[in-house]
Amino acid sequence: MDHLTILYRGPLASCDYDCPYCPFAKRRDTPEQLRADRAALERFTAWVAAQSHGVSVLFTPWGEGLVRSWYRRALTELSHLPHVERVAIQTNLSARLDWTAAADLSRLALWATYHPGQVPYERFLGKCRELADRNVRHSVGVVGLPEHLPHARRLRADLPPETYLWVNAAEGHAYSDAEAAEWTAIDPLFAYSRHPHASRGLPCRTGDSVVSVDGDGTVRRCHFVPEVLGNLYDGSFRGALRSRPCPLPVCDCHIGYVHLEPLGLYDVFAGGVLERIPAGPWRVPHPMGAAPLTSA
Ligand code: SF4
Ligand code: SF4
Repeated sequence: MDHLTILYRGPLASCDYDCPYCPFAKRRDTPEQLRADRAALERFTAWVAAQSHGVSVLFTPWGEGLVRSWYRRALTELSHLPHVERVAIQTNLSARLDWTAAADLSRLALWATYHPGQVPYERFLGKCRELADRNVRHSVGVVGLPEHLPHARRLRADLPPETYLWVNAAEGHAYSDAEAAEWTAIDPLFAYSRHPHASRGLPCRTGDSVVSVDGDGTVRRCHFVPEVLGNLYDGSFRGALRSRPCPLPVCDCHIGYVHLEPLGLYDVFAGGVLERIPAGPWRVPHPMGAAPLTSA
């Protein structure tokens, strides 16, 4: 094996935000749960450090990881390992960002989500500007709920043109063509998110070069298919790695369908598959109506 991409999700399930669309809003972990999450993450980080093949990691915690010191430390440590190609995390950007100064910025990346209603606009925009000033690779995104549209438009206008702003179709929300056009004006790649992708029987890289790992080291092909391939720490997963078709009818989450081969998204997001940064050039709508081509 040359390279393994890992989506890691430990037991952490708490968040400092209170998003109405999220089951983890304002949940608290007990001190024991936090200790378990920390121990699991440290074990995982040590495993990655010990590998001789290339590894890329996307942390996809249920809650917010960067408010916890052990996630900041794991990202920093992994970013310095020569065999780690990319280490990224999904975050609401509520935490301080000064820790990024100690990371290797050629490998670190953040997938940041703006949650209007949870954070003052100027504060979130300030965090994005700080990331840009610190040269931290990042994408920024928003859930495509109707009430988020003006916020997303404002953010697109205020972010530097080279910062990609993605829009996730809201779960269970059907978009008319007119609505989809409004979101596409903000995220030119919104079409990929608008509808769930019919995936059954199609080749998907998960289970072969991409796996999902939980805090116990249980390995599955992705976060959505429950079948267990083995365990990370006893190496039993390795014998199960092979290319195989998707068993589910649809895949509707970017962290899954980006690996669905017929979509060709490894080309669209070349160099930024995990942190959702397109290779560019892609068309970013200009706030004044022009549509210059720009690249990441
Ligand atoms: S920031 Fe993310 S994890 Fe936290 S409540 Fe909102 S959607 Fe859930
Ligand atoms: S297409 Fe989606 S659900 Fe199917 S195996 Fe790939 S990531 Fe999992």
